Amino acid sequence: MTLGLFLYFIALCAQILAAFYAISLFLKSHSYRFVCGFFALGLVLMMGRRISPMLYGLNKESINIVDAWLSIPISISLLLGMIYFKKLLFELEVKNTALEEISKKDSLTPALNHSTTMVRAELEVKRSFRSQKCIAFLMLDIDHFKLVNDTYGHPIGDQVLINLAHVCKEELREIDIFGRVGGEEFLIALPETPESKAIDVANRLRIAVAQRALATVGDKSIFITVSIGIAIFYPQGDQYLDSSTVIRKYYNLCDSAMYHAKQAGRNQVYCEPNSPSA
Ligand code: GH3
Ligand code: MG
Ligand code: MG
Repeated sequence: MTLGLFLYFIALCAQILAAFYAISLFLKSHSYRFVCGFFALGLVLMMGRRISPMLYGLNKESINIVDAWLSIPISISLLLGMIYFKKLLFELEVKNTALEEISKKDSLTPALNHSTTMVRAELEVKRSFRSQKCIAFLMLDIDHFKLVNDTYGHPIGDQVLINLAHVCKEELREIDIFGRVGGEEFLIALPETPESKAIDVANRLRIAVAQRALATVGDKSIFITVSIGIAIFYPQGDQYLDSSTVIRKYYNLCDSAMYHAKQAGRNQVYCEPNSPSA
């Protein structure tokens, strides 16, 4: 009788611990909240299967000793299963977060990929409509990049792209959006940046890129230049447009400004004069 009670008590403790793990997972987990919730509910209800024979035993002074012995491996298995499930879920959530981050990045450079750039830029436009602060959109394109590939080969061209993105990221703020939107074209969005400041930033980028060797072949250093087009979005001037239309419009405006910079001789910054002003 005492042994039976003791066995049920040990089994109950194991199940309380298992239920505790399930409840804490239910509270912490985001993606698997429902699964953990059902586990927690099941484990809490199953405690009754340990408590009721104990109460019955105390009242009637008789206990099914086989059932009491069986309750030990059952409850310990539930506890071990729950511990393993918690570990598995933690690893899965870490991997999911890492995958989510990877899916936002460009496959070659440390810039954002095309779709993430558009999503982030659109969010910035929405924020700008609320704050009534402008955004500078910059399109950066490498000058005569085809020549780099043709002369040194595609892998060296890739190295140039990677290092160019690093240089740009070093020059930009944490809040700026920097994304690769074409083979050797990058879209940059600078929140709360008026025209004069945007021109300064663009020239800073242009000079930083031109001064750095972005790859080496043997003892030869490879330098490149970039052309940058700028268009400034003022929310007051485009208040009737929705954010995705704004993005399309300013993408095209800074792209055509970039072609002006190319026509002006490359390694230039050109600011679109038709940008609506506040
Ligand atoms: P421009 O000054 O007029 O921009 O001349 P460009 O040669 O840079 O422009 P063009 O559009 O003629 O060529 C772009 C080149 O970019 C061609 C293509 O091979 C190269 N390119 C695009 N994506 C990649 C890439 O991922 N890796 C490498 N290595 N090259 C790329
Ligand atoms: Mg180019
Ligand atoms: Mg191009």
